[in-house]
Amino acid sequence: MGAAPHPVVLRRSGQSALGAIAVALLLGVTACSVSEEREIALGRTNAEEIAAKYPLVTDSVVAAYVQALGMRLARGTSRPSLPWRFTVVDSKDVNAFALPGGFVYVNRGLIEHTERMDELAGVLGHEIGHIVRRHSVQQLKRNGGTRVGVALFCAVTSVCDSHTARIAIDLGGAAWLARHSRVAEAEADSEAVANTVRAGVSPEGIPVMFQTMLTMRANEPGLVQTFFGSHPVEEDRIATTRHLVEGVDPRILRILERDDADFQTMKRRLTSLPKSPAAPALP
Ligand SMILES: [Zn+2]
Repeated sequence: MGAAPHPVVLRRSGQSALGAIAVALLLGVTACSVSEEREIALGRTNAEEIAAKYPLVTDSVVAAYVQALGMRLARGTSRPSLPWRFTVVDSKDVNAFALPGGFVYVNRGLIEHTERMDELAGVLGHEIGHIVRRHSVQQLKRNGGTRVGVALFCAVTSVCDSHTARIAIDLGGAAWLARHSRVAEAEADSEAVANTVRAGVSPEGIPVMFQTMLTMRANEPGLVQTFFGSHPVEEDRIATTRHLVEGVDPRILRILERDDADFQTMKRRLTSLPKSPAAPALP
């Protein structure tokens, strides 16, 4: 249900949709020409605003673990020298998000719904994939502006004040705004498999996490609503990812790490922190 575009968008779609398409076409051509310097600046500006305004998990054990796991995955990519930063958002919504230039956000709720390290690694590997493939630059450019990253963040976390959340909705519907294309998602899934294997982590956590999401959609739909709005996941995506995992040499797959003691320590710590703040009500 989260995948449906916001009804407001449909109703007022006439000229603004045409305008958006024109802008998207124009920017689609120029997205590749955004310099890496500009890409990093774009991500950093949004990341600074997010850090100043919104609830992030600053507990040192949690923050250090997630940063270290993210770096372990990012280091082996074709863009190891981006200023990679992995941040836990204090939101019980199950979701994750990437800004251009190396800024990855994972919601506390997602980590709390993982059981093993490789599941979290798969999610980080996927978001890293969006950044490495520069989907995140295109996403921001498509939506037309330097502050759009904050609106996107609001669309996937439910932690923002009503004013900013309203901006996200006005920009075209929260779910639609944060959504990558199916092609981009498939590329990020493929990157996730490569990124985990390269880092010595099992890619088997990736389909496990998708399965968790689908189960939650049936049992706790409110917590995954923004996820399904921003990530088209269906059973066939799980099958495709499983197929990619099966393509890994079984002798290698057997020796890859699936869990570690530090992950479980971090999870216990996260669970013991005061509850995430309630999502502010929309006006
Ligand atoms: Zn994605």
